[in-house]
This record gives sequence, C-alpha cells and structure tokens, in this order.
Amino acid sequence: MEAEKFDLIVVGAGPAGAAAAMRAAGCGLDVVLLERGSVPGSKNVMGGVMYGHAVREALPDFEPSAAPVERVVTEQGYWLMTGSDALRLSFRSPAHARPPENCFTVLRARWDPWFAAQAEEAGAMLLPGTMVQSLLRDGEGMRSRVIGVRTDRPDGDILAGAVIVASGVHSLAELLSLRPGGEIPAKAVALAVKEVIYLGEERVSDRFGLERDQGAAYELIGEFTAGMPGIGFLYTNRESVSIGVGVVLEDLAGSGVKPHELLDRLKEHPVVRPYIAGGESVEYSAHLIPEGGIEDLPQLAGDGWLVAGDAAGLVNAMRREGSNLAIVSGLLAADAVVRARARGDFSAAGLADYAASLRKSFVIQDLRRYRGAMPYISAHREFLTTYPRLAAKVADSVFQTTGEPRSARARRTLRELFDARSPWRLLRDVAGLWRALNG
Ligand code: FAD
Repeated sequence: MEAEKFDLIVVGAGPAGAAAAMRAAGCGLDVVLLERGSVPGSKNVMGGVMYGHAVREALPDFEPSAAPVERVVTEQGYWLMTGSDALRLSFRSPAHARPPENCFTVLRARWDPWFAAQAEEAGAMLLPGTMVQSLLRDGEGMRSRVIGVRTDRPDGDILAGAVIVASGVHSLAELLSLRPGGEIPAKAVALAVKEVIYLGEERVSDRFGLERDQGAAYELIGEFTAGMPGIGFLYTNRESVSIGVGVVLEDLAGSGVKPHELLDRLKEHPVVRPYIAGGESVEYSAHLIPEGGIEDLPQLAGDGWLVAGDAAGLVNAMRREGSNLAIVSGLLAADAVVRARARGDFSAAGLADYAASLRKSFVIQDLRRYRGAMPYISAHREFLTTYPRLAAKVADSVFQTTGEPRSARARRTLRELFDARSPWRLLRDVAGLWRALNG
C-alpha cells in the first residue's frame, strides 16, 4: 500500500508541535500531528508556568477563562534559602490578572489535549498513540533529504514535503548527531523532579493569600540543592500546588544524592512545609530539561526537516522559560514550511529562513544574552550556598530588635559580612553575576 502523503508532518504534540501544526494548518497546509502518548500531555512534565505572549501568538483570541488554565499568576518571586530561613523577594500585581494576562499556571495533562485540539480545529489531523521511530530519507546518510517518518502504526510510513521534529528533549536519535558534540552532554541537561500536592481550592487561596483565579509562582534558590547548580519551584494550581527541583545531571550523578532526596529536603524546609502541610500527593514525575543554551544549539533545519522546542534545546534555564520558546519556535518553523511550500522548495536552502527568523526573535536573542550565566554559576557555587546565608544574615539583622543600638548592630553585621567575604571579593562576585546575566 502506498504511504499517505502530507504537506507537513509534525512529530510530538507538546507546546512546540501543537503550535506548529496549528499555524501550518491555519495557513491551508495538509498537516498531520503525531503523538506517542495515548492522549497529548499524558507523558509530559512541566513546572507549570505558561506565557500569555506565546499562547496569543498561536491563538490571538486566547482567553484563559475559556482554556484549562489553573490560575493567572499575579505574584512571582525568588526565595533565597538557607537550611532554615528564606529571604523572599516577590512582586504582586493584581493588574497581571487582567488581559493581556502575563502568565498562568497549567497542568500539562489538561492543557496539552486542549492545545492540540486547537490544532485539530485549525485543520490538522492528530494521530495520538503514534510513535515515530525514525526519519525516512530519499538516500543514504545525513545529507539525504527527509521525505517522511517511520511509525509504529500498522500502516507504517507517512510521507510529507517537510517534517518538524518537536518531540522534546528525548529526541529522535538522528538529531543527536546534529549537535556540536554529538550526544547532549550531562552538564547541559538538568534532571527535575516534580510533585503535585492536592490541598483544595480554598486552602491554596488562603495559604498563598490569593483571590480566586489568581496564582503565585516562586523560584527557590539555596542550600537544598546541596551546592549543585539548580533551582526549585513552588507554583499554585487551582486546587493543588506544584513543587519541584532540578539540578544539572552531571553534578547529580557525581553527588550520590538521589533526586527525590532533594525534593524531600525542599518539602521539609521550615518555610516551605506550612504551604503543603496536610496535602495529598497526587502526581510524581521526573524529566530532563535541556539547559545547554546557545552553545549547545543543533543544526535547526536541513533538507526536508526542521527542529523546534526542547528537541532543539530552546530553553532559557535562567528565566524558567521553555514553553514559550517552544511555542514561538514551532510557529516560526511552520511559517518557514508555509513559505517553502509556496516556492515548492523544501530543501535546506528553502527552509533556511527558519533559523534567520529565530535569530531575530527573543528566542535566540535571550539565549545569547544568558549564555554566560550557567557557566558562571557553575563556577561560583557560593551563589547557592554562602550568598543566601549572608543575605539571610543581613535580613535577620534588619528585622531583629534586640535593644542593642541600631548603628552598633549594623556595624557588627557588616563586619561579620566582610569577614565571610571581603568587600573586594563581594564586589567582584556581584559584578561577575551582573555581567553573566546581562550578556
Ligand atoms: P515537550 O513538551 O517535551 O513535548 C514533546 C512531545 O513529543 C510530547 O508530547 C512527547 O510525548 C512527544 N514525543 C516524543 N517523542 C516522540 C516520538 N518519537 N513520536 C511521537 N511523539 C513523540 N517551561 C516553562 O515555560 N515554564 C515552566 O514553569 C517550566 N517548568 C518546567 C519544570 C520541569 C520539571 C520541566 C522538566 C520543564 C519545565 N519547563 C518549563 C520546560 C518546558 O516544559 C519545555 O521547555 C516545554 O515543554 C517544551 O515543549 P516541547 O513541545 O518542545 O516538548
């Protein structure tokens, strides 16, 4: 039997793939969206913050109230944590709950089926329960043209003018050979573990001081990662909270610490514990996050194929952004395929403007800006240990009232601070961090 032929095959119905299929089908292309899970989202893991700007680029009329959104985020912040304390810097703006909403929390098991359904509504054919095993080529070797995919379906192969690979961090084996050093190195991926803890809607609102529908998203930095470069998170869903921690795989492997121990340590922290106390664990998952940034970008397109989202390593680990880079890269990949089809040219040259439009977008520009941040923090782990401790010490001195004259107390705190870190070293570290975060 002759294999079916489409204009475009999209592999993976995550944020990147669903967005790509939505855009291409909306432009009149014959699109099939292949997903290995029995339902989109059934295998996916994410902390949970989705960004309004990216979703609206895919769906200009998007309204959170008409989608499976958990809560619109009105407070975001960073908690610098010692073993027992936390200095919390956060910003709350009820205006963020008004359109155009800045960001919101989702549970992927609910969000992904809805987002993929928008692609179907635009005209794409969704085939869940379909595992893509390899790319089909018209000849031997990586230089030959991709003409379709081999699947585990009884009807096997599917052909197309172009294939967008949006299958996430565990991507098709062929793609690994397109990376600068072959396989993704363990220092360029983080392993994250996440738990969803059910509390009930009222308890979530009360504990976080939130109105109904409003949400909070906190990034947690400090000693609970045992000095390993990594970050924790605590996000509110409607009736539950998502809590998790991710650390660089290479460090984790060498530490002898198990990922669940890091999460247990975070959940036991005296500042975190009251938020989740009495809750029921309803989901536990682990997943990799590609964090190599711009240095680890693979080739983005070739003859008959393009790669988007996590499959291309498009994650801004410093800003907890991945879903928005995935959606926007999926859209830009689809735009390139639409243009290529109009010219009748799906060759590498015909699809090359995908990389050019990614470079013009925030996706590559932000990855470039933060290129030095992860290496800097890896080389200066005091930002995860000593500095949170010193920050807590200063905060403690500001908020403690002891009867000692304020000026004497301030002098003593400064002395203790400078004993731990000389003013010169402190300035050098802060300036280094500033430079690393600002490109
Ligand atoms: P994925 O979401 O991984 O989707 C890939 C899809 O392809 C999946 O549905 C998968 O089943 C399917 N697939 C894979 N292989 C095949 C195959 N061979 N055949 C068919 N289908 C296949 N980002 C944020 O923006 N905000 C956050 O709060 C956030 N928190 C995170 C917390 C954790 C713990 C983790 C792990 C990641 C987090 N991220 C976050 C990153 C974000 O989840 C990813 O960047 C984003 O999901 C990437 O989307 P994607 O579509 O490229 O890949």
